This record gives sequence, C-alpha cells and structure tokens, in this order.
Amino acid sequence: MKVTTFQYVNYLWDDAKAASLGDNQIELFLYRSNILGADLRITNYGGGNTSCKTIEKDPLTGEELEVMWVKGSGGDIGTLTRKGIAGLYVDRLRDLKKVYRGVEHEDEMVALFNHCIYDLDSKAPSIDTPLHGLLPFKHIDHLHPDALIAVAAAKDGEAITKEIWGDTMGWIPWQRPGFDLALKLEKCLQDNPGIRGIVLGNHGLFTWGDTSYDCYINSLEVIEAASNNFAKL
Ligand SMILES: [Zn+2]
Repeated sequence: MKVTTFQYVNYLWDDAKAASLGDNQIELFLYRSNILGADLRITNYGGGNTSCKTIEKDPLTGEELEVMWVKGSGGDIGTLTRKGIAGLYVDRLRDLKKVYRGVEHEDEMVALFNHCIYDLDSKAPSIDTPLHGLLPFKHIDHLHPDALIAVAAAKDGEAITKEIWGDTMGWIPWQRPGFDLALKLEKCLQDNPGIRGIVLGNHGLFTWGDTSYDCYINSLEVIEAASNNFAKL
C-alpha cells in the first residue's frame, strides 16, 4: 500500500503524471527532483542533488554499460531539467579510486570527473558527483532538509540518529564533499549493509531506492521521522 500521509513534508507524487513518463528513468528522476525541490523544508534553494543510474549503449563499442545521471554544477533540483544534469560512465568514475591521491588533492579530482563524461550534452559535474557514483543504488537523493540538519548539527547528532532510526541509518561526521567523502559513504554502506540512508554530520542526508518512487518515499519518511522527533520535544 502506498504511504501518502505526511505531516511535515508535502507528498506531491502524482501517479498519472508519473505514468505518463513510462519507464523513462531519467524523466522519473527529474520528476522526483522537481517535486522534492518544490518543498523548501526538504531542501534549501540550490541545496542538494539527485541522481539515477541507467543502462545505456556505449557509442564507441556498442556494449551496454551503466551511466549515472546526476544534477550538475549550479541550479536547483526544483527546476532541474535534462539540460542541468551530467551523464557519466559509472565504471570510469569508480576507477578514479586508482588515481586518487588523498584529501590534499581533491581539486584535481573535479577535472577528472570530466574524463568520465558519457553524455556530450552534460552540464559540468559538481564536487558531489562521486558521492552518488560510489553508491550502488539506482536512484539517490542528497538533500539538506531543515529537520535533518537539526539532527546533523546537534552536538550528539550521532546518538540522536541512532535513537530515531536505530541500525537502519548510517552516520558520517562532517567533512568537505569530495572524493574522500565518497569513499566514506561507500565504506559506511559496506559496514552497515541494509541501511536506508546516511546522515552527514553538520551537512544533510543521503537516501535511496530501487525506483524513483521508492527513493522519493524513503526520503520523505526519513525527513518525516526527523521532524516527528522534534515535534515530541
Ligand atoms: Zn550537500
């Protein structure tokens, strides 16, 4: 059964609209992004980014491979369109682990993201690109929800995260976005298989799903739970 009752976030998924997009995962990801961004409690203007991964044909070899579509640099998810996203080879992005030299060299990684571009009409990839690319999920939201930031910025944020979500949520202390944070996200998931999301200390939230709808509901449920926690106080 679909959960459609939320008190602290707007549930805006329109089945008819989604059905009109068929099985086009990029369109479904853009649709989700737009309705997430329409509620400023879910993310601040210009804050956060969203992605999906699809199987595409490599124009060079004709082989099928995984491509990640992610909000590019700048803009806002509330008005995100096809023009605002970057399409990158997932394998190439993950292969950057082999050349990553450490946190002192984060800046050179951004230039290397351009070498991973699959779609020649791509927007420039942002510094958050590897955060989505090193996670395996088909649809991913990275958001800055007010209620989540209240948890993430609390002195005992990690303990509060445990209290609200138990073992279903990961926690990573604050660090600047970049390749190293992407490696931490990957490790957090390896160490805690089956989690529904990861809270980034002093920053925001990562949530995901197998479909755009599952991802949307997961994000809303997690934000709703954080809001409920404060409503109890
Ligand atoms: Zn962020």
